[in-house]
Amino acid sequence: MGEYLCFNGRQYKIGTCESLYYIRHDELKEIAELHQRDESGTLITDYLQPKIFFYRFPWPDEDGQDVSYSDNRDYSRKYTIANPGIETAHNTVACHIKAEGGGFGLNVMIPCPADTEAFKNSGLRSSPINITPLHIAFEKYDENGSPLTILGCGYCRQMFRITEDDAEKVRAAVLRKDNAPENPNSWHKKVAARIFGASY
Ligand SMILES: [Zn+2]
Repeated sequence: MGEYLCFNGRQYKIGTCESLYYIRHDELKEIAELHQRDESGTLITDYLQPKIFFYRFPWPDEDGQDVSYSDNRDYSRKYTIANPGIETAHNTVACHIKAEGGGFGLNVMIPCPADTEAFKNSGLRSSPINITPLHIAFEKYDENGSPLTILGCGYCRQMFRITEDDAEKVRAAVLRKDNAPENPNSWHKKVAARIFGASY
C-alpha cells in the first residue's frame, strides 16, 4: 500500500507500507514540528513511531532538499561496500533462466551464494567468492529514538541490522572509499558518521 503526504495541493509518495524509501526520518520530524497533519488529515507523527518504519538513509548530498519533491528520488538508491567481516543474514535468490530463442522463462530459487554453508549443502556451485558485497539500505529507529542502520546482502537483498561493533567496521569500510581524504566534510566521512549499530 502506497504511503502519501499532501501539501500545497500536491500529493507525493513517501513509500510503501513500512518502507519509507523516499523520505528521511529527520525530514519527517521537521515536517511534524511544523504541521500536525497534512492536507488530507494524515497525522505526521504516525510515521515517527519507533521500531516500525524503514526510512531513507540520510545521504549527505540530499541534505536540505525540498521534500515535497522527494518522490523524484531514486527509491532504490543503495551504496555498496565489501563486507568488512561482519555477520550477515541471507535469503534465497531468484535466478531467471530464459530459453534460447525466447519465452519459457523460469525462476530458479537458490540459497544465497554468500550463505556459504547453505550454498555448499545445496550441492550447487558458483564462481569463487572471496568478499561479498553489502549495501546500506535504510535507517530505522529504536524505542529510545536512536537510529539504526539497516544493511542488505548485495546478492540476496536480505536486510539486517548491525551491532555497534559491526557499525565500527562498516564505518571503516566506508572511509576506505573516501576519495577526498583532505576534506574533513567529504561525502564518505559524512556517510560514515551516519552509520549506527545497536548497542544491545
Ligand atoms: Zn545473501
